[in-house]
Amino acid sequence: MAKAPTVQDFFNRFSTDEACLEHLMMLRFGNPMYCPKCGAEGQFAKLKKLPAYACPTCGHHIHPMVGTPFERSHTPLQKWFYAMYLFTTTRHGVPAKELQRQLGVTYKCAWRMGHQIRKYMANVDGDPPLGGHVEADETYIGGRRSGGKRGRGAPGKTVVFGMVERGGDVMTRVVPNTRKVTLERHILENIRSGSIISTDEWIAYRGLAKHGFRHGTVDHSVDQWVNGIHHTNSIEGFWSQIKRSIRGTHIHVSRKHLSKYLGEFEFRWNLRHAPETMFARLLMSF
Ligand SMILES: [Zn+2]
Repeated sequence: MAKAPTVQDFFNRFSTDEACLEHLMMLRFGNPMYCPKCGAEGQFAKLKKLPAYACPTCGHHIHPMVGTPFERSHTPLQKWFYAMYLFTTTRHGVPAKELQRQLGVTYKCAWRMGHQIRKYMANVDGDPPLGGHVEADETYIGGRRSGGKRGRGAPGKTVVFGMVERGGDVMTRVVPNTRKVTLERHILENIRSGSIISTDEWIAYRGLAKHGFRHGTVDHSVDQWVNGIHHTNSIEGFWSQIKRSIRGTHIHVSRKHLSKYLGEFEFRWNLRHAPETMFARLLMSF
């Protein structure tokens, strides 16, 4: 497995705002290229006073930052790139406080940058249908520890439903409750018919066989963790990674913002076998 770039690699490659802009231009428009206006082929040249490039034949301008989160930002491009580098190389995410300190920007600015980057991480991730052998499970995130009855939710906590294809992608949804009608809809929408599904014994999962799935369960209430090919260790591993990270770095994640954090963790999980591609994929998602 190729390694993610080191901080040294990063600053060698993106030593200035100009180098970052050049990279963005290459990724988004290529160079040499055909001018979209006059059709002539040739190297676009960087303009001195604008973050833009011009066609050598007709003078047409291309602004590589248009349509990206950098376009209307006063934060220099290199700081944005470094923030994205941090997001794609840390395992547990980057708290706004940490961004503020590392980039030398205000807390408000750091917070906004973080949310923008998360949004694009979720975009990259997309949501391909899952198949093969899928584990499904729900969990409660945030709020106080005091429990409520399963199916009714606990005070201050947000219910999240997750599905993970063994050896493949994970997908999560913030849901209002853990009832059958709620969870089944996401299963039917996102898992290919005929797939194997492993869950625990929660009643919401009964009846999946009727929808054409090969469903098996483990009964955690009697300490059964594996039942033949069935277990939910992968999805539970994903949950514990998120919970550890939120506890360790973000202190409190509101229900409103939770799905963005989930998108960030899905991105990392789904690209875990190709960490060296994370940064480029994020940049190409604009
Ligand atoms: Zn031209």
